[in-house]
Amino acid sequence: NNDVPDIASPIRTKAIMETYGLTFKKSLGQNFLTDKNVLMNIVDAGDITAEDDVIEIGPGIGSLTEQLARRAHKVLAIEIDQNLIPVLGETLSPYDNVDIVEQDILKANLPALVEEHFDGQHPLKLVANLPYYITTPIIMHLLETAVKLDTIVVMMQKEVAERIAADPGSRTYGSLTVAVQYEMDAEVAFVVPRTVFIPQPNVDSAIIVLNQKEGDVERPISEMVFFKLVKGSFAHRRKSLWNNLQSIYGKTPEIREALQEALDASEISAQIRAEKLSIHEFIVLSNNLIKVEEKFN
Ligand code: SAM
Repeated sequence: NNDVPDIASPIRTKAIMETYGLTFKKSLGQNFLTDKNVLMNIVDAGDITAEDDVIEIGPGIGSLTEQLARRAHKVLAIEIDQNLIPVLGETLSPYDNVDIVEQDILKANLPALVEEHFDGQHPLKLVANLPYYITTPIIMHLLETAVKLDTIVVMMQKEVAERIAADPGSRTYGSLTVAVQYEMDAEVAFVVPRTVFIPQPNVDSAIIVLNQKEGDVERPISEMVFFKLVKGSFAHRRKSLWNNLQSIYGKTPEIREALQEALDASEISAQIRAEKLSIHEFIVLSNNLIKVEEKFN
């Protein structure tokens, strides 16, 4: 429904909140977007078409939801704040392809919600302007869910977006980078200044686009060993991989010998730092560490 006036503008956003007697809750990361161009760019970044079903986390007063509803087949918006549910019922009333549920995304049973609200005949994407305070837990939650999301387009603090999309060797490459890029291709689409939000946050934001990897995706033999390695390798960023490996597994001569064997078999130097290792190298090394894991743990 393109004839309805847009929700997003500073004046309308303030007016809607006033009408319902609501204040912006900092504790829930309520910084609402008020710039229609930015909203359209987010929808474009997800390449949302009438073929797509979309999940939105944290619709707020519905500014982004509205632009999604105009382009997508169907939208499911999941909002934790019960005070916003009646607001959304009204602001989104012109759209008959939007369902709103009051839930905490971190506790939501996504497979059940998807089953209940979508017909399973359309590609499923996720689009959100995330609350800053739980960006990383939400991303990890989405990567772990059994629901297959073809594309994830999320706005977050610029620095976190840069960490997620970092290349090996860069200053911001870390365990979050590996955890995300191991599952999906990641790219920063564009940066959003703090001035387009009400209230203004203290940081700038960026849109990140995650796409399912194409073709055969390389998997470690043991995800447990892989994630233990990734987390432990970045535990002390300034130290060598060798030092971090000993912090994970121990320093006895037997353990050191087994660790050296795993490194040799992986053709990885002990003196390298974790930030230089590609995801493929982490996988190979974790496969060779299974022996160490079995023998010494
Ligand atoms: N989508 C709106 C926009 O772009 O203007 C609002 C974005 S605002 C940054 C984040 C939204 O997420 C708020 O509406 C907040 O209430 C909601 N939220 C915070 N924590 C949540 C959670 N755990 N589950 C679902 N929604 C949450």
